[in-house]
Amino acid sequence: MLGNFSASASVPRRDGARLARALVRWFHEHRRRLPFREDPDPWRILVSEVMLQQTRVEAMLPRYRGFVARFPDAGSFAEASADEAVASWSGLGYYRRARALHRAAGEISRQGFPRTEAGLRALPGIGPYTAAAVASIAFGEPVAAVDGNVRRVLARRFGVEGPTDRASFRRRIRELADQLVRIATQGADPAAAPGDWNQALMELGALVCTPAAPRCAGCPLRGRCVAFLEGRVAELPERPERRAPVAVRLATGLVRDRRGRVLLFRRRRSPMRGLYELPGGPCRVGETPRKALTREARARYGLVLSPGSALPSFRHTVMDQRLTVYPFFAAVAGERGPPVRGRWTAPDELDRIPAGAILKKALAIAGSESPPVDCRALMSGNTP
Ligand code: SF4
Repeated sequence: MLGNFSASASVPRRDGARLARALVRWFHEHRRRLPFREDPDPWRILVSEVMLQQTRVEAMLPRYRGFVARFPDAGSFAEASADEAVASWSGLGYYRRARALHRAAGEISRQGFPRTEAGLRALPGIGPYTAAAVASIAFGEPVAAVDGNVRRVLARRFGVEGPTDRASFRRRIRELADQLVRIATQGADPAAAPGDWNQALMELGALVCTPAAPRCAGCPLRGRCVAFLEGRVAELPERPERRAPVAVRLATGLVRDRRGRVLLFRRRRSPMRGLYELPGGPCRVGETPRKALTREARARYGLVLSPGSALPSFRHTVMDQRLTVYPFFAAVAGERGPPVRGRWTAPDELDRIPAGAILKKALAIAGSESPPVDCRALMSGNTP
C-alpha cells in the first residue's frame, strides 16, 4: 500500500499515477471557477499568484479584478509610476511585493514574458513557488509548485513528520512533489496537464484538506492517506514553534489645515518605505503616547507638534508586531532643524497615494470627530 512506504522512498510509479488520476478527476469536477483560471494569460496568472500569497481568494478577487482592469498587461503596469504601483496594492498589505511586481513588469515589457520556471525566477521578487505556478499553468512546464496547501496535503497523504519549517521536512516534501509532477504529467494515463496537476493539489488543500477540520469523507486521496488511516490528521503537518508577536505602542498625530487636508509624511526605511503615514512613532517604556508623539515628531521630521485631544486607540498587526495605535488631533506649533518633508493631502487624494492601513484606520476613526478649538487655531497658516 502506498501509505506504508518509508520516509525516504520513491513514490511507486503505478501508485503515483493512480493518485494523479483520482486527484485531477476530482479537480475537474470540483474546482472553483476563478477568473484567472478561465483566462490563462501569463500576466493575470502572475498577478493572481502574487496576490494569493498574502490573502484568501474571496478577499483577493475584488482587488484582482480592479487591478487587471486598470493594468491589463505587464506593459501598462510598467508605465505606472512607483507611487501608483504601490497605491494600486492598497488593502493587500506587503507593499514590497507591489514594488517587486512593478520592477518585474518593467523587465517583462523590455524582454518579453519568460516561459520557464528558471526564466521567471530571474524576475525581481518572483520566488520558486510563483515561478513554478506561472510556468506550469501558463506555459505547461512540468514543474512542481509547492505552497502551504501543497505541503499540508503531501505531509498528510504521505505521513511526512517534523515541523514544517525544518529543512528535512521541506526537502522530503520537495522530493515528493518533484516525483509526483513527473508521474502525473508523464507516467499517468491520461497524463495530466502540469498546470492542472499543480492546481489540483492546491485546490484540494484549499477546499478539502484544510488546516482545521479537513473534509476527509469527500477526499479522493482518503483510501491511501497515511494521516487518515492512522488517525493522525490533526497532528500532521507539525506546526513550527511560534514566536510571540512583539507588543508596540504607537503614537500618531492627525494634523488638518483649514481646508481639511491632512499632514502626511513618507516612510524612508523599513519594509513600509514609500508609504505615507501620519507623524509619530513608537512609545518608549513608561512614556505616555502624548509625550512620545511630541518627541518622535521632533526627532523624525524636525516638527514641533502640539497634541490635542486623544482619539480612540485601535489595534493593528504588522508582520511580527502587535501594535496599539494612539491617535491624537494635533497642530503644528513650529519647526526645528531642517525643513519638514510633509505634504498636505486632501481626502479625495488618499486613494491615489500609497497609504498604509494604520493611516486609513486613524482617518476613519477621526472622520466623525472635529479637532478641538486649540488645534484649529494653531493650524492656521502653518504649511510645511
Ligand atoms: S484524507 Fe483527509 S488528511 Fe488525507 S489528504 Fe484527504 S483531506 Fe487530507
